[in-house]
Amino acid sequence: MSEDAAGAGPAMQQHTRPLAEIASYHAHVYFGGQPERRHAEWLRQRIGERFRVRLGNWHDRPVGPHEQAMYQISFATEIFATLVPWLMLNHGGLSILVHPNTTNPRRDHLIDPVWIGRALNVHGEVLGEEDEAEEALEVNTQPTLPA
Ligand code: ZN
Repeated sequence: MSEDAAGAGPAMQQHTRPLAEIASYHAHVYFGGQPERRHAEWLRQRIGERFRVRLGNWHDRPVGPHEQAMYQISFATEIFATLVPWLMLNHGGLSILVHPNTTNPRRDHLIDPVWIGRALNVHGEVLGEEDEAEEALEVNTQPTLPA
């Protein structure tokens, strides 16, 4: 990767990046105290009833670059247009980080994500800048309800 593409702001970007760079997305649903954890549980159940995604493990302590407890949702690019607006309407005040998965995890988390709710700190320095782009993980939901 050229140097100017790595950390450049919008004014410096010289070329367009194709959507094909995005292999999949993650949404990280953060929670703090018990009321937030209960809403995170409420949300997780309803996501599972409505979307073909991979619901990840509960992390009740911060892991990796994440500063708060959270769980991860891994999803294919075609799910974005329904899941992300649904999360906008139903996050209940929780912070949710939605980031693309490309070959540069640090950039995915720090420069290119969207936040639903309040943005939190992300410790991107623990992430690499050159990796294989992660495909959507195997779906573990069986949705039966409309979004
Ligand atoms: Zn992630």
